[in-house]
Amino acid sequence: LTLLGIESSCDDSAAALVCLDGERGEVLSSIVMGQEELHAAFGGVVPEIAARAHAEKLDLAVEAALAEAGLRLAEVDGIAVTAGPGLIGGVLSGVMLAKGLAAATGKPLVGVNHLAGHALTPRLTDGLAFPYLMLLVSGGHCQFLVVRSATEFSRLGGTIDDAPGEAFDKAARLLGLPQPGGPAVEAAAATGDAARFSLPRPLLDRPGCDMSFSGLKTALLRARDRLVEAQGGLTAQDVADLSAGFQTAVAEILSAKATRALRLYMEEAPAAPALAVAGGVAANGAIRSALEEAAAQAGARFAAPPLKLCTDNAAMIAYAGALRLSLGLTDDLTLSARPRWPLDEGAAPMIGSGK
Ligand code: ATP
Ligand code: FE
Repeated sequence: LTLLGIESSCDDSAAALVCLDGERGEVLSSIVMGQEELHAAFGGVVPEIAARAHAEKLDLAVEAALAEAGLRLAEVDGIAVTAGPGLIGGVLSGVMLAKGLAAATGKPLVGVNHLAGHALTPRLTDGLAFPYLMLLVSGGHCQFLVVRSATEFSRLGGTIDDAPGEAFDKAARLLGLPQPGGPAVEAAAATGDAARFSLPRPLLDRPGCDMSFSGLKTALLRARDRLVEAQGGLTAQDVADLSAGFQTAVAEILSAKATRALRLYMEEAPAAPALAVAGGVAANGAIRSALEEAAAQAGARFAAPPLKLCTDNAAMIAYAGALRLSLGLTDDLTLSARPRWPLDEGAAPMIGSGK
């Protein structure tokens, strides 16, 4: 099965072709057209601007993905598209394009949950067997999922406030470092002393797999303000030490909660236990090694897909769509775009379904 995938739920206009041969998926092409420069001046993604850019770029992304794979639209077996969750204008652009292509070619249409795309990626890249444990940790998400099949996901817990990527971005702003904050904080932390400032580890004393990161950011703000008051500004060493303290706190929270999530997951006695990570924050070396350590201690394999398949892309949508199509799960032209769509809620939304 060869699927075209279309993704436009945030600020990347993406299209890809993926071939599913039995159990094995292969990425034939993957085009991601970012919009950073359009949103840079606003300090965040502007939904209206994102929607317009998707409307302008998505069909070009589809053309480029077909060209890179050396395929014509007539040769694909189906059209998969992110139907949510995400910024509604962007999701709508993708869904409208996919419906148009499906109607014009008579190919099956497959609505895919964006989070399912992320969650299934380690199966595509590392061949993980179901069920595996997944930590999705990005700019907008932070949750532990047990991935049971292409269509069944159980959420064990997640952040109750900020996502870690968002926290890294805010931390960078507080410290006068550039955006995106994650890589900048990680670079500054390399020469820092994590023990100099004592930052909190919220929710670690509570049972369960829920996490909180907003208190950490407030503590960082206070530590910074105390320094500014005492010495009139921050030295490069202060920034390094604060960055290291912050990064270590995030890594410890994630690994402590991963240990709990692993314990719950291992109770099911999975045949080939594995912990996988996805999302931009998984690029962080300190966080990655903390999670790798937690997996090793629990006796689980650790998998981290290549970064370009960890962050938003359409290959994951094409792959998830191919899995759905192989199970006979398709959608018709009543498929609708949905801003919120929890992963454990099943099939794609339909127009008039009241969801
Ligand atoms: P989502 O996919 O949830 O809609 P998003 O598009 O913002 O959100 P990603 O593209 O997966 O998420 O990741 C971007 C985030 O990852 C940013 O917040 C960025 O700061 C963070 N990030 C990137 N590299 C690192 C790093 N080395 N350390 C920590 N955080 C990082
Ligand atoms: Fe995403």
